Amino acid sequence: MKLTPLWTDLTLRPADLPLAELPEQTDLAIIGSGYTGLHAARVVAGQGGDVTVLEREFIGYGASSRNGGMLTPGLKAPIKAMARRYGMEKARWFWNWSLDAIDHVDRVIAEEKIDCGWARRGHVALAYKPAHFEHFRGHQKWLKENMGDDSPELIGRDELKNEIGSAAYYGGLANETSGGLDPARYVFGLARAAGQRGARLVENAGVTRIRRTAEGYRLTTPRGELRAKEVLLATNGYTTPDIAPKARSGIMPVGSYIIATEPLPEALQKELSPKGRMFYDSKQYLNYFRVSPDGRMVFGGRNNLSTSLGLEESARRLERRLLEVYPQLAGVPLTHSWTGKLGVTYDLMPHIGREKGMWYAYGYGGHGVSIASYLGYEMGRIFTGQQSGSPFQDIPHPRFFFTRWDKLYLPFVAQYYRIIDALQ
Ligand SMILES: Cc1cc2nc3c(=O)[nH]c(=O)nc-3n(C[C@H](O)[C@H](O)[C@H](O)COP(=O)(O)OP(=O)(O)OC[C@H]3O[C@@H](n4cnc5c(N)ncnc54)[C@H](O)[C@@H]3O)c2cc1C
Repeated sequence: MKLTPLWTDLTLRPADLPLAELPEQTDLAIIGSGYTGLHAARVVAGQGGDVTVLEREFIGYGASSRNGGMLTPGLKAPIKAMARRYGMEKARWFWNWSLDAIDHVDRVIAEEKIDCGWARRGHVALAYKPAHFEHFRGHQKWLKENMGDDSPELIGRDELKNEIGSAAYYGGLANETSGGLDPARYVFGLARAAGQRGARLVENAGVTRIRRTAEGYRLTTPRGELRAKEVLLATNGYTTPDIAPKARSGIMPVGSYIIATEPLPEALQKELSPKGRMFYDSKQYLNYFRVSPDGRMVFGGRNNLSTSLGLEESARRLERRLLEVYPQLAGVPLTHSWTGKLGVTYDLMPHIGREKGMWYAYGYGGHGVSIASYLGYEMGRIFTGQQSGSPFQDIPHPRFFFTRWDKLYLPFVAQYYRIIDALQ
């Protein structure tokens, strides 16, 4: 079993990506080359803007080449919590925005001809306990009445076998809006699109210091210094306190872990997911899983909230859970075990804002494939004057206390969620 992400093992960062040297100056410096940074760069460069993307490792290194590749409606914050906090009208706006985000990815993949296994075959949320199915019933009704969204379809336990080859669940809520892709091929395709429009992509350029100057900013990297008029911090779960302490206090890096099996025979793929659906369950500590474009079972979850669990140990824990869902996979070898860092905010909402004039955009939880893509695109539109702002900038942004001590208290938070799962 390889302890590296499946996706970048299958597809290396293309050798012919248009990479650049560090320039002396740029109008916009984007720190981080995931979906947020590259979508913003694509828009700005497309309008003829001068933009440089700085990446500490290789292009797409972070969560954007490590995730489950599942695009599903909604934000990390539960929709009813949004309605309570911001009012029904704003909640409806956020809900519809999350649907637009998936359409946006669909459009960009088509426009840029990105070959990333994109397929819109829907997902099913799976009830882990009978009470969770009753919750699904209420949720479906609520979405229809309040969001005007009648796409979720309630699936009773008896019909569930048409959706999933597992007897572990008590029903489901299916939604055909969702789609899946290979995240690394998507992020590399975006990088190529941004580069072809003129964005400079600079690897091994981790920003270690940012200073304000009369003209803008001076950024220090191991490759030298760069002067920039504007800066966008697009580092999400990889944000460190050294360059942006305020932004870091708004975002918590949380580890998510995935295993993959070897490619499965077609008949078995069909048995596991007869309609090619993707899945997640209704636990606090949820598992998410799907058949990959190349026919493997890819099975993920938050083993604990830390970012440092060993990959052998995380594979053992995930495999145990995988076999509870799909006993028919017993004996099928695992080929990969890997992890990456999600960015989670205190109120579970994405946020954009400014720290000492420098912009940041982050906080997508497990919804970043579509949400980071769309928010990055909107940041690009804000920089080019095509959009004046965003509701994600206007909502209050509560911060975490004690971000420097997260390693100490995250295990307690993790235990709390385990207890909730056991009790619910
Ligand atoms: C295991 C896993 C599974 C997931 N599954 C899903 C899923 O199925 N569906 C979904 O919608 N979302 C999922 N997500 C979330 C999603 O992947 C992220 O929300 C999204 O990729 C965030 O994109 P981003 O561009 O904001 O950040 P990232 O892609 O994390 O990019 C940040 C980049 O910033 C770079 N960086 C950091 N500091 C510096 C610095 N000082 N200088 C230069 N560069 C720097 C990092 O190296 C990194 O490449 C998952 C995440 C993980 C980790």
